[in-house]
Amino acid sequence: MLDFNNTEIAFASKSKSELKNAYLLFNVMKHPGIVKLGKWACQVALKIRFPLAWIVKPTLYKQFVGGETLQDCTKHINLLKLSNVKSTLDYSAESKQTPEGIRATLEETLRSIDFARENHDIAYAVFKPSTITTDELLCKVSEKNEKLTLTEIKEFREFGERFMLLCERAYNNNVRILVDAEDYCLQNAIDELTDEAMRRFNKDRAIVFATLQMYRHDRMPYLHRIYDDAVEKGYYPGIKFVRGAYMEEERKRANIIGYPDPICKDKQATDDNFDAGVRFVVEHIDRMELFMGTHNETSNYKLAFLIDEQKLERNTPRIFFSQLLGMSDNISFNLAHEGYNVTKYVPYAKVRDVLPYLLRRAEENTSVAGQTGRELRMLNAEMERRKKS
Ligand SMILES: Cc1cc2nc3c(=O)[nH]c(=O)nc-3n(C[C@H](O)[C@H](O)[C@H](O)COP(=O)(O)OP(=O)(O)OC[C@H]3O[C@@H](n4cnc5c(N)ncnc54)[C@H](O)[C@@H]3O)c2cc1C
Repeated sequence: MLDFNNTEIAFASKSKSELKNAYLLFNVMKHPGIVKLGKWACQVALKIRFPLAWIVKPTLYKQFVGGETLQDCTKHINLLKLSNVKSTLDYSAESKQTPEGIRATLEETLRSIDFARENHDIAYAVFKPSTITTDELLCKVSEKNEKLTLTEIKEFREFGERFMLLCERAYNNNVRILVDAEDYCLQNAIDELTDEAMRRFNKDRAIVFATLQMYRHDRMPYLHRIYDDAVEKGYYPGIKFVRGAYMEEERKRANIIGYPDPICKDKQATDDNFDAGVRFVVEHIDRMELFMGTHNETSNYKLAFLIDEQKLERNTPRIFFSQLLGMSDNISFNLAHEGYNVTKYVPYAKVRDVLPYLLRRAEENTSVAGQTGRELRMLNAEMERRKKS
């Protein structure tokens, strides 16, 4: 029976010292004051180019990152495979959005798609669109308030070519690719390109996956539009559901600029929207594929029960559960143990480049109510269990 409290399964691959280190780390992260101070210190250190690896590598990096390169991630891929969990290698360097940074990110992402073709323990490739262009351009195109200059038109065309190049490489390699979702002000342009890529490359099966942030109250109508379009034009949309990572910034921005808040009115409304989206895709699974990224136990139980209720195979390749490396192992490993498809996002990049991602993880663990408490409780229960046995 599926039970996320089974810590023996959750931490089977962790040594005693790894459990202890994770416990210490989450204990520090539960203090918002320390995380805030650490964030500020890291930002200063980055500016003055003060070395950070000595403190970050044995702590946050070790817990949440697979390594610096694709090859480094092999040990995680193999370890996850032992528990029937697949990997999704995510090049998490936050690009400097310079021509060199953009080119380097594009090339590394292409390498990650090729790496996935050769390795059946990798479930998906992934990319974050803003790392292959600039926020300014994405924002201007998305908001449609101002006319683009000729240079911007050319730059946006080139961004579209890079975007399609990644999707086409995934298609040629028969590798599914997730397009991460970003801030509201950047997302329209991303949605339009993703829709086009799905029409182009998802003719026989879902290759390109759109990410829908269900904290946005306009996402169910968008999901219905995707479905109707797919039926009309004959393709198979891939849908990745998350709740959304940028709520505070979104509310602030909407308030300052003076447009309606795009986020659901409260957590319950987001949860209901999330459930409705997941149910819709499962009920139309002959036409769509589902990737559900969440650390919420209830959402994971609900999807597991829904799969059983709809009499689908637990390991139908059309449905994957997903959590981030270093978080919610109790969910990932217990789901996999019960025969459901699970993939962990395994971020990789050099310490300096992945720091913004790590700081977001640290902040998320202080701000997502109950999450750190749950990690600590699980780790503690497993250490106690091992002591007794
Ligand atoms: C595998 C994976 C991939 C991800 N990819 C992306 C991505 O591409 N883009 C992205 O934006 N995020 C992404 N995320 C992060 C995700 O959007 C969430 O921020 C994070 O997972 C926390 O939500 P939860 O469902 O896990 O947990 P929960 O604790 O159940 O939910 C917390 C979330 O609920 C929402 N929420 C909280 N309070 C309120 C409120 N008062 N009103 C309305 N809504 C509220 C917010 O979205 C908040 O982050 C990803 C997460 C995972 C696990």
